[in-house]
Amino acid sequence: QVVNYAPFTLLPSAVPSALFEQAYAVQQDFNLLVDAISQNKEFLEHTLASTIKVDDFTARLFRIHTQVLEEGLAQSVFLGINRSDYMFDCGVDGTAALKQIEINTIAASFGGLTSRTAAVHGQVLKVLGKSKEASCLLPNNPSKGLALGIAKAWELYGSQSAVVMFLVEEVQRNIFDQRCVENELWNRNIRVIRKRFRDVFEKGSLDDAKRLYMDGQEVAVVYYREGYVPKNYDQQNWEARLLLERSRAVKCPDIATQLAGTKKVQQELSRPGTLERLLPGRAEAVARIRATFAGLYSLDVGEEGDKITAAAIADPNQFVLKPQREGGGNNLYGEELRQVLEKIRDSPERTSYILMDKINPQPAMNYLLRAHSPLQVSECISELGIFGVYVRQGKEMVMNKAAGHLLRTKAIEHADGGVAAGVAVLDTPYLV
Ligand code: ADP
Ligand code: MG
Repeated sequence: QVVNYAPFTLLPSAVPSALFEQAYAVQQDFNLLVDAISQNKEFLEHTLASTIKVDDFTARLFRIHTQVLEEGLAQSVFLGINRSDYMFDCGVDGTAALKQIEINTIAASFGGLTSRTAAVHGQVLKVLGKSKEASCLLPNNPSKGLALGIAKAWELYGSQSAVVMFLVEEVQRNIFDQRCVENELWNRNIRVIRKRFRDVFEKGSLDDAKRLYMDGQEVAVVYYREGYVPKNYDQQNWEARLLLERSRAVKCPDIATQLAGTKKVQQELSRPGTLERLLPGRAEAVARIRATFAGLYSLDVGEEGDKITAAAIADPNQFVLKPQREGGGNNLYGEELRQVLEKIRDSPERTSYILMDKINPQPAMNYLLRAHSPLQVSECISELGIFGVYVRQGKEMVMNKAAGHLLRTKAIEHADGGVAAGVAVLDTPYLV
């Protein structure tokens, strides 16, 4: 086992306070939206129809979703933990605007580690003789916020002896991030077990009431930190996923909520009228959400797709090409974007991607500290994430919160990739 410190910036980064507040203010709206999509079978089916034809991973997830609905949902308590990510787009006049990159509805990470970063940056500032600035750093504790959501779902499930199961990867590179959340649960006398898909396949079972058991222990909540990319699955793991989804246990997220976080859904949300249909009677929420959208474009076969494909080939630096994948490092930019689009422009394969306007933040200088890497000053850009937590029992929302933030910063030469991908590092916002 190898232990390294998590990478971080030497100094906190400036973040416009108005945009920071805007991101917090829209989080409950996004929670409602994700939850509404997850309950809207027709919307998911219609939106993902073209993607499913060409993307096997989305198709398999969708098949489980359909099967579970046909059987009838055993689950009655729902827990969402998401993270909505933004960049600060710099307009021609120099003003910055909050633009959403994506919303992560499964395995949204770094809530644990980032609960510690403000203390690190506070100390660095003090060492530099900047104690006044240090005292301006905001407290931030997503670990606790996420754990409170899990604890609420556990309580509503209603079995004192049942455990919370963290579903974790075969090789764990981010275990300490998860431990922060886990410890908050132990502190509330909730038992936590950590299992892989393989363990579920071998030792998981359902009883007549579809209660989930692992090794004879009843499981109240399954918290996925795994299962969001194709490489997480072989045949046995798919079977384990199906078993979990069929169960009464609260899945965080259930498979419908995972599908609600796909890039294709994000793109469809930006169409005029879609948000209004999904959140009827909530015009203000719709306006707050829409204000954060960058331009998003469908590449479905047809005139609309042909037009935007041609525009992106002509001017690739204005766009990002995104496949239906999570975890960083999958998007295409610039010349590579052009080449790929030229190759697939007349093939249905292009529908497995979406196009997005490229967001251009104003860079700032910082030092990125990474284990075993030389220290150097870099031109950097930051991405702000807000954690959302909600719990629904039947039709009633019993918790809907913003649970803290995450600031990640990377050198501008990397177009893509997060902390886990080895590109971005943990940061703390310094509000200006
Ligand atoms: P993933 O699911 O792989 O995390 P994202 O949509 O978050 O996919 O994209 C990964 C990274 O690519 C982001 O963290 C961001 O740095 C960069 N990126 C994504 N979309 C844009 C965009 N529209 N403009 C500029 N950079 C982007
Ligand atoms: Mg991302």
